[in-house]
Amino acid sequence: MRPPEHVTRAIRAQPGPVCAYVYDTAALRERAAAVRAALPPGATLLYAVKANGHPAVVRALAAACDGLEVASGGELELAVAAGARRIVLGGPAKTDAELAAAVAAGAQVNVESAHELRRLDRAARAAGTVVPAAVRVNRAQAAPAGSHAMTGTPTPFGVDERDLDRLLAVPLTSVRITGFHLHAVSNNLDAAAHARFVADALDWSVATAARHGIDLRLVNAGGGLGVDYLGDATIDLAALRAGLAALIVPAGVDLIVEPGRILAADAGWYAAEVLDLKRTHGRWFAVLRGGTHHFRLPAAWGYSHPFTVLPVEAWPYDWPRPQVRDVAVDAVGELCTPRDVLARDQPVARLRVGDVLVFARAGAYGWDISHHDFLRHPPPRFVVL
Ligand SMILES: *Cc1c(COP(=O)(O)O)cnc(C)c1O
Repeated sequence: MRPPEHVTRAIRAQPGPVCAYVYDTAALRERAAAVRAALPPGATLLYAVKANGHPAVVRALAAACDGLEVASGGELELAVAAGARRIVLGGPAKTDAELAAAVAAGAQVNVESAHELRRLDRAARAAGTVVPAAVRVNRAQAAPAGSHAMTGTPTPFGVDERDLDRLLAVPLTSVRITGFHLHAVSNNLDAAAHARFVADALDWSVATAARHGIDLRLVNAGGGLGVDYLGDATIDLAALRAGLAALIVPAGVDLIVEPGRILAADAGWYAAEVLDLKRTHGRWFAVLRGGTHHFRLPAAWGYSHPFTVLPVEAWPYDWPRPQVRDVAVDAVGELCTPRDVLARDQPVARLRVGDVLVFARAGAYGWDISHHDFLRHPPPRFVVL
C-alpha cells in the first residue's frame, strides 16, 4: 500500500536518517465514520485505546467515536484527558486503585470475575455511589475465526459461562449488573461471520438476562474487525452493514462495539531509512534505522509486513552509492538479534542506501506493543497530520 501524497511529503520533510511514525488524524476520522455507517442506527462506537495510545490519536478518536474503551489505569487517565464522553474499563487484572479511579471517572466497568465484582462493589460503596457494570463472559461456544480467539477456549478473560450463576449470586450493595461484554476475536476479516457473531451475542444476552432476572441495558460485542496485513483488504464494511441490517436491538438496550485495529491501522505509517545493504550467505539485507523495537507486530505475529520504497536522491558521501536491483531483500532493524526482522524476501526493483522503506497499516499495535528500550536507540519521531 503506497502512502498518500501528504504522508510522503511529511516523511520527506524528516531529518535523516529518517525514522518516523506518521499518524494521519483525517484518516482516523474517515475510518470512524465508515465503521459507524456499518453499525445499526443508535449503536455505540467506542475506540479500544490499546491499539494506539498516542494522545493525538486518542483525542481524534474520542471525538469521532462515542467514547473510549480502556484496559488500564494509564489508559483511563488518557481517556479522561482526551475528553471522552464515555469510558468503559476492561481488562483481566484490575487493581483496587484502578477500580476506584474508574468509579471516580464515571467509567463503566466490565467485570471479569466474582472477586473483581466484590472489589468493584466495595469501591463504589466507599465512593458513596451505585455503578452499573457489565459481566465479561467467556462463552461456551467458540468464537468466529480470527487471529486470537478469546472465548470458547481457555483464556484469562472473563468468567466462564458455566460459572455465571455463581458470579450473579454475589451479594451487591453498590453495583447494578446491566449487561454483558462478549469481546471474542481479533482481526476477523469475515464480515458475514462477524455479523452473525454480533447477532448471536445479542440473542444470548437477551436469553441469559431473562433467565437471571437482569434488566438488560447493554450488550458489548467487543472489537475484532480485521485488516489483512499481507494485502490491502479490510473486513468488508458494506457486507457487515448488510449482515447487521436485520438485527433487532431490543428497545432500551445499548449495543456497543469497541474496535481498535480497524480504526487506527490505516492511519499510521512507519518509515525507516536504509542505513546499509549487504549480502551474507546469498541473502540480501536492508539494514534500517529502526526495527521491531518500534514496530513489533510482524515479529510478534510471525509474518512479513509489506513495504514500499520511497526513493531519496540525496547522497552525501564521495563514494559510489550501494544499491541492488531486482532482488529480494530482508528488511531488518538496528537491533543485535537475528529476530529483528520486519519483512523477508520482499522483491525490490531498486533499493539504495539512503532510500526510505515505508510500512503501511502501522497505526494499530505498532509502536504501542513494541519493546522500545531494547538497545537504547533513539525513538522514532512522531508526526501527527
Ligand atoms: C483488544 C480489545 C479490543 C479491540 O480489539 P481489536 O481487535 O483491535 O478491534 C476490544 N475490546 C477488548 C476487551 C479488547 O481487549
